[in-house]
Amino acid sequence: MLNIDLHCHSTVSDGLLTPTQLVEHAAVRGVSALALTDHDDVGGLDEARQAAAAKGIRFINGVEISVSWRGQTLHIVGLGIDPEFPPLAQGLAVIRNGRVERARNIAAQLDKFGIHGSLEGACAYAGNGLMGRLHFARFLVQQGYAKDVKAVFKKYLVKGKPGYVPHQWASLSDAVGWIRNSGGRAVIAHPARYKLGKDALDELLLEFRALGGEAIEVITASHTPEQSLLFARHARRLGLLASRGSDFHGPGESYFDLGRMPELPADCTPVWHDWNGAM
Ligand code: AMP
Ligand code: MN
Ligand code: MN
Ligand code: MN
Repeated sequence: MLNIDLHCHSTVSDGLLTPTQLVEHAAVRGVSALALTDHDDVGGLDEARQAAAAKGIRFINGVEISVSWRGQTLHIVGLGIDPEFPPLAQGLAVIRNGRVERARNIAAQLDKFGIHGSLEGACAYAGNGLMGRLHFARFLVQQGYAKDVKAVFKKYLVKGKPGYVPHQWASLSDAVGWIRNSGGRAVIAHPARYKLGKDALDELLLEFRALGGEAIEVITASHTPEQSLLFARHARRLGLLASRGSDFHGPGESYFDLGRMPELPADCTPVWHDWNGAM
């Protein structure tokens, strides 16, 4: 039985395991094909590919791009990308620079709220990786502001809370374009997570498809079984492919372990249906 996991994070973004540790973790869990999809960064792909080759795991170059669409943040996963394709590499570098500025703004907001030292604290969690809200969350948990990262997000880091700052990410059109033009396939990540009404969701899916987007993430830790079935239906209706990914960030922090999630519903066309070789 093939076990394909096309969404996870390493220490290059906000995961807890290095690319090598992540691949070793995948191997133990019987994952046969893995895509590393760090937020806005492709810096872990070489290391992960080498580790995967050593373990006999098929490796797919991936990325998860942060996008602003109608005032919301969306995540677009790219699979099979060329990480060296200049428009993609340059576009991701711009997003990463924006994250530095955003981190300063988050820390300044938390300062006003009486929480001090969060920039240094989050930086220590980020190490050499990019700065994300999850690094702030880990720092705030360590400081005792909430019991776990989920609770910290709810209390401090989402819209309307003291540590939230609005931020402009890439456009949907740029993100899908960079992925496609680098030879990859664009996937809308965890679509049930976006706060969109039925019409806006439909408009998003149609716009995504018109831009060249090819797949919907149907199985993800963010979806209930009902939401997975709903998005499987959307994929079929729109002629889009279906993807499957754990969105694993690290042991003890993620809902699904690597490769440990339901199969795609039977009537979906998998995003990997035409990948050659050992799929
Ligand atoms: P960022 O891209 O820096 O805004 O951070 C987004 C990341 O924060 C996501 O990829 C998750 O890893 C994490 N995240 C977002 N919302 C939550 C939540 N409610 N609970 C736990 N982690 C979350
Ligand atoms: Mn993340
Ligand atoms: Mn995401
Ligand atoms: Mn993710």
